[in-house]
Amino acid sequence: TRTPVNVTVTGAAGQIGYALLFRIASGHLLGPDVPVNLRLLEIPQGLKAAEGTAMELDDCAFPLLRNIEITDDANVGFAGANVALLVGARPRTKGMERGDLLSANGGIFKPQGKAINDNAADDIKVLVVGNPANTNALIAQAAAPDVPADRFTAMTRLDHNRAISQLAAKTGAAVSDIKKLTIWGNHSATQYPDIFHAEVGGKNAAELVNDEAWLADTFIPTVAKRGAAIIEARGASSAASAANAAIDHVHTWVNGTAAGDWTSMGIPSDGSYGVPEGIISSFPVTTENGTYKIVQGLDINEFSRARIDASVKELTEERDAVRELGLI
Ligand code: NDP
Repeated sequence: TRTPVNVTVTGAAGQIGYALLFRIASGHLLGPDVPVNLRLLEIPQGLKAAEGTAMELDDCAFPLLRNIEITDDANVGFAGANVALLVGARPRTKGMERGDLLSANGGIFKPQGKAINDNAADDIKVLVVGNPANTNALIAQAAAPDVPADRFTAMTRLDHNRAISQLAAKTGAAVSDIKKLTIWGNHSATQYPDIFHAEVGGKNAAELVNDEAWLADTFIPTVAKRGAAIIEARGASSAASAANAAIDHVHTWVNGTAAGDWTSMGIPSDGSYGVPEGIISSFPVTTENGTYKIVQGLDINEFSRARIDASVKELTEERDAVRELGLI
């Protein structure tokens, strides 16, 4: 039998955590034959609710779930972690300036990065979901100098999945017919969902749609503002779809992208496509054997260039702000 994989989830008692844990335990994160140990990290106020979720996990009698540990100590929570899903974050509240938000999250992600550095397994893979996800990932990465930087990633897979769904609806295609879509930049309103290299049933998506006004005025804003539309409709932020995207992100990272396709991940830039080295920005990537590679050589037209640059500018400003705050 295989050795169980240690999966740590922070913010485990939150709504994304609630949608996420059952799918990890049932084998959707890593595969149907991979046993898991769950480590639930919460702040003290969240521990009791996390215990309740753990009781429900027990009651599912998942064959792959070996044990569950609940803690508010990051050193314990990340001990031996192979995969860490950093979901808990400090939400932006009314009247909060960006600097306040970044420093509140620095107080969470800096110590978590250090705890990962000191306690996680050598093969640790980190996905940051909690917002501002890209910059939180940068803070954690900077606090973990002994961990290869490329193990710190931020989630843009929900944006990627949203874009696929919107493009499928527009073209009448099945989602499974859509390949090579890209989210560039920040997981924020400036993100750029790019269909110029995407394929719909083997045909170029941009040529098939052939409607730049739809792209600029409908598609891009619909994808970028989908989170707000869901809050408006549901009265609560997206949780199941965010959890699903986190599952997809890690599953693809570990198990590989299909031939002839790629995915989108927020990763430390190596300078490709003019994105400054070191910032955590979303790129088109292929994955294989637990590692990822940026898809190279794509032709970036003017329409795309302006939008990638705008999102990257926001990321460099966030980086400068956290540098100023001494968080990186
Ligand atoms: P959620 O579980 O709904 O969200 C958690 C984080 O995910 C937020 O930062 C949220 O950002 C982010 N997120 C990213 N993408 C999405 C998306 N598409 N849709 C919705 N959210 C998204 O928050 P809850 O308040 O329900 O739960 C948070 C939990 O985290 C609480 O139990 C709290 O106790 C815990 N926590 C734990 C910490 C720790 O372990 N040290 C630290 C801080 C909190 P956004 O705010 O922009 O919606």
